[in-house]
Amino acid sequence: MLAAMTQQIPGAVNGSAFAVGGWEIDILVTGFPGKSVRHGSLGWSTIVLIRRGDRLALVDCGAFGHRKLLMAELAARGLGPSDITDLLLTHTHYDHAVNWLLFPKARVVVGAVELDWAAGEPWGATVVPELYVRELGLFPKTERVADGDEVFPGITAHLAPGHTPGCLVFRLAGAERDVVFTGDAAKNRAELVSGEVDMTFDAALSRASIEMIHGLWRARPGTVLIPGHDLPMVLGGDGAPLYLGRREAAIDAWFGDGMDEVTRFQLTLETTG
Ligand SMILES: [Zn+2]
Repeated sequence: MLAAMTQQIPGAVNGSAFAVGGWEIDILVTGFPGKSVRHGSLGWSTIVLIRRGDRLALVDCGAFGHRKLLMAELAARGLGPSDITDLLLTHTHYDHAVNWLLFPKARVVVGAVELDWAAGEPWGATVVPELYVRELGLFPKTERVADGDEVFPGITAHLAPGHTPGCLVFRLAGAERDVVFTGDAAKNRAELVSGEVDMTFDAALSRASIEMIHGLWRARPGTVLIPGHDLPMVLGGDGAPLYLGRREAAIDAWFGDGMDEVTRFQLTLETTG
């Protein structure tokens, strides 16, 4: 079963950090490819740290529930929020963008199409965090970018509409391989393989965006794809995506009479860790 196969990230220094040319890629939080059954969206999205010289970028910044975890992951690397120089947002949904204001020194990159769309959404209509997006539009370090723009040294933005009208995919052009950050234009392996997506305003546009992503992915052998809600992947010899690294996801629940009585539910398949 191909979906169950995993392998090491090429050049990995630990489970989720690897080097590409002059960049260090460090997946701080690996997104989860699922949704709750009775409690709305989970919002368990991917957050990646990119280092290049003295520039430190984040690709997306998670939901409210990520805040403590994100700060702890940065602190574990000797970093604080003011060390982040650039924040690259794939789109404006709350689970990717709401924490932009945690990084006071960062320039915040967001698609011009995306920000215009999000700012015009009627309040309460979508999972856009309305007031945070309004403030993002006023923030002096917000940088609206367009398709093809270089948004960080060696990283270009690619418009990938469907999930939202202005979703961006970021492509890092490394010396030996590329890294493609898809955000929610392709949230997980199932969407990448099938071309069918959950949560889109236009299924045909989403399919075209996934085809564009496959083009970026196939362009150079060994290119690592990091989706918005799944493990990173590479293309295997037969063209099928192979997971890299190991999935970690679980929920602790209190069903007993005391706080020390905890039931842990693992949200992983045995074969994928
Ligand atoms: Zn989204």
